[in-house]
Amino acid sequence: MKQETGKKRIIIAIDGPAASGKSTTARRVAERLGYTYIDTGAMYRSVTLKALQQGVLDGLRHSPESVSSLLQNLSIRFDGDRVFLDGSDVTAMIRENRVSREVSFISSLKPVRDRLREMQQELGRQRGVVMDGRDIGTVVFPDAELKIFLVADARERAKRRYAELIAKSPEGEDLPDLDLLEEEIKRRDKDDAEREHAPLKKHPEAYEIDTSDLTIERQVDMVCNLALEKGVAGR
Ligand code: C5P
Repeated sequence: MKQETGKKRIIIAIDGPAASGKSTTARRVAERLGYTYIDTGAMYRSVTLKALQQGVLDGLRHSPESVSSLLQNLSIRFDGDRVFLDGSDVTAMIRENRVSREVSFISSLKPVRDRLREMQQELGRQRGVVMDGRDIGTVVFPDAELKIFLVADARERAKRRYAELIAKSPEGEDLPDLDLLEEEIKRRDKDDAEREHAPLKKHPEAYEIDTSDLTIERQVDMVCNLALEKGVAGR
């Protein structure tokens, strides 16, 4: 049921490493509370896809300052579950493994982070949002009333990503095996946690939830119960 108007609207920040269950949890929490869900990983993935499409990735590695041309006229829009980059629906393409492999590099660039942070702050300005990512509770909305940090065992996360890839990859795309996926996830976590700007890290006030052995339903209940404690109207 949608939240009644006039009831307290807060920001719920859900951070954590790759495939820890953030987006599924965040989407369902938003549905239950009548909030808007914003997937900030999809925004970094969209910029990465744009770099791949423009063939500028290698150039950027050598001269990262040239990233500004990539950000010119950048438009990222959400419409329900769909993501639009410069007007085109990129919902499926941003999940391809070639994007996952490069996204940590693109998201380490300060001009990219500055631009996307501004967009995210604007999207959350009216509150009543569940936003997931790596730096939402620490940098984008350090004043978020509820901060969650989701973690899970790396093997379990690789299995989840594998199932997601099978379900979402376009037909004919080669899928990496489980060991390789686990390695890539660990590398991405390391890159995200060790980068200079807005690294992946738990805010001291964030509630840590290990989702390795939890059902989605249970994760959603836990987050919604914490939201109720913060004064958000329940179902
Ligand atoms: O959440 P997802 O795995 O789709 O995010 C893809 C990548 O985008 C992350 O590995 C990280 O490099 C970057 N990201 C980020 N900050 C966020 C959200 C995502 O740096 N708030």
